[in-house]
Amino acid sequence: QWIFLNGEFVTKENAKISVYDHGFLYGDGVFEGIRVYSGNVFRLEEHIDRLYHSAKSILLDIPYTKDEMIGHVLETIRRNGCQDAYIRLVVSRGIGDLGLDPYKCKMPQVVIIVEPLALFPEHLYETGIEVVTVATRRNRSDVLSPKVKSLNYLNNVLVKIEAHLANVSEALILNDQGYVAEGSGDNVFIIKNGVIYTPPGYVGALEGITRQAIIEIAADLGYTVKEEPFTRHDVYVADEVFLTGTAAEVISVIKVDGRTIGDGTPGPHTKRLLEEFRRRVVAEGIK
Ligand code: PLP
Repeated sequence: QWIFLNGEFVTKENAKISVYDHGFLYGDGVFEGIRVYSGNVFRLEEHIDRLYHSAKSILLDIPYTKDEMIGHVLETIRRNGCQDAYIRLVVSRGIGDLGLDPYKCKMPQVVIIVEPLALFPEHLYETGIEVVTVATRRNRSDVLSPKVKSLNYLNNVLVKIEAHLANVSEALILNDQGYVAEGSGDNVFIIKNGVIYTPPGYVGALEGITRQAIIEIAADLGYTVKEEPFTRHDVYVADEVFLTGTAAEVISVIKVDGRTIGDGTPGPHTKRLLEEFRRRVVAEGIK
């Protein structure tokens, strides 16, 4: 396995970062998770755009142009000979001293890791998953925007811990006003009377690339999709609930805080969206 590390390809054993890197010391950096389907990279330009937006928001200058970065991602995939894979692209502030000052970090570090897939097991797409809502809140949009995919994922880690303590694999996080924002690493949708709802960005979610793909697919299939805030109650009484994400794709949620959603099995609309999503990801990607 070859890992891209600051312009060079190194083996996994040699892919090392300094303990003075501010990504390690302070979570100071940004990242992306990207999928390769049958050798095609799904919506790579959108992921690269989001990476550069996240970086701009935290005043981090990525040392490559977007085109160069796309080239590095494609080359890393080629070297690893992967057909179906998950890519982790990380840009950290770089090596500084123990102080917070990011201006002492002279050169951001860029890492690209291509891994074989580690997905939810396929049977969960057949059965759906159970989730809970948690006490951890999404950070407010007026502080570090949830749209920034930063290395500071402590909130999301705490959500995972709460999910684990409740013996479920995923959880929904609310914003500070109690509106449902997203999952720990996925966006959330509900369906009621054939209409699809997902929280708007301002509620405090990452603008997921899978979320956007599903909005487009749903519209193409003739559904009405509304970006509107909703509460836990709306989730409990929805006909269908599902999560979307690069790793999760589209996964049905069949129980929330002990309330069974619909008849407790993945609903027909969710199944249709997953089927169409899986059809398109292979057709659409960049080679
Ligand atoms: N929300 C958070 C907090 C995430 O980390 C992710 C994963 O990237 C998502 C949502 C889903 O976004 P995407 O579909 O772009 O993977």
